[in-house]
Amino acid sequence: MSPAGEPIPLAQPDVGPREEELVLEVLRSGMLSLGPMGPRFERAFADWVGTKHAAAVSSGTAGLHLGLVRAGVGPGDEVITSPFSFISSANCALHAGADVAFADIDPITFNLDPAALEAAITPRTKAIVPVHIFGLPCDIEAISAIAATHGLAVVEDGAEALGAVRQGRKIGTHGSPTIFAFYPNKQMTTGEGGIVTTDDDDVYEDILSLRNQGRADSGAWLEHDRLGWNYRMDDLSAAVGLAQVERLDEILGKRAAVAERYATLLAGLPGVTLPSVVEGDVRSWFVYTVLLEPGVDRNAVIGLLAKRGVASKPYLPSIHLQPLYRARGHREGEFPVSEAISARALALPFFGNLTLEQQERVASELAAVLADPPVL
Ligand SMILES: *Cc1c(COP(=O)(O)O)cnc(C)c1O
Repeated sequence: MSPAGEPIPLAQPDVGPREEELVLEVLRSGMLSLGPMGPRFERAFADWVGTKHAAAVSSGTAGLHLGLVRAGVGPGDEVITSPFSFISSANCALHAGADVAFADIDPITFNLDPAALEAAITPRTKAIVPVHIFGLPCDIEAISAIAATHGLAVVEDGAEALGAVRQGRKIGTHGSPTIFAFYPNKQMTTGEGGIVTTDDDDVYEDILSLRNQGRADSGAWLEHDRLGWNYRMDDLSAAVGLAQVERLDEILGKRAAVAERYATLLAGLPGVTLPSVVEGDVRSWFVYTVLLEPGVDRNAVIGLLAKRGVASKPYLPSIHLQPLYRARGHREGEFPVSEAISARALALPFFGNLTLEQQERVASELAAVLADPPVL
């Protein structure tokens, strides 16, 4: 701990009395799952994003898995995704029994590079999981066009991009099933949880069945007409989610204001590159990640910041270099852009209730550490 004050955490959920009130309502109703709170949350969420349907699930990972199953992905198929993401974006293909292929990213947006994506397509490719990483929209128009040309399914990983806007439209409304995630470090939380948005009635009905043990929607409770999972969201989580959706504009506004303050406080700090801005698109602020200069010992910087009471972490490691994917044959050098960004990226404390005083401390401690940076 720093003499300057309490350690500053990386993330913190923004929950309050309305969440407590709705959770209590569920507890007192006696319907802890499959009660009315689930549909209330789903309707509010779909209306906020602007889609016809939203199906809540037990996690973002579960949503990605069901999205691929619904797209018919299975053994022998290949799914292409970004190596610069959280591991779920790739693991969902393995959960569906398929193989994962990666394509490198754009050095400005850190999202899938459409040209690299197209080059990675093989006769076995069945689906693409584009990720809107760090809440910045990917080039979904180009990716959807490539998918259409090659007859591939698209399942969007919007886990970090709730509220992000691409060419005037919110992520989730660009035509493919889109997954959002609600772990407590995300923009909004349900504890654990996720959701799938879609305008397609058939996709929606299938996701409802797949998340609920393969039950026929209109059939008897104990009638199961396909292989499904228990990926349901319980009503306590949905209650937190409904309260969060009611406050979502406020929650996202606070995060955007914190990001703006960082941009001011860190502007001109030597050795630090701030998050990119893409003209015409709106980033939804999930994390605040800066790039250090190549050659700076990022892990040593993290250690020095920790001693000064500031949490930070390497974010994100490239998926293909995780032990699970190395064991599947992946190596350094395959995706140089992703690897270079992974080596330099540093996530700073970021949440809606971060105070100006805390942010000033983060900025001054980072400046102090980088005045004489540890090198590799
Ligand atoms: C958080 C996250 C997920 C997974 O969500 P869980 O709810 O933790 O399963 C998937 N993809 C990305 C990009 C994420 O950040």
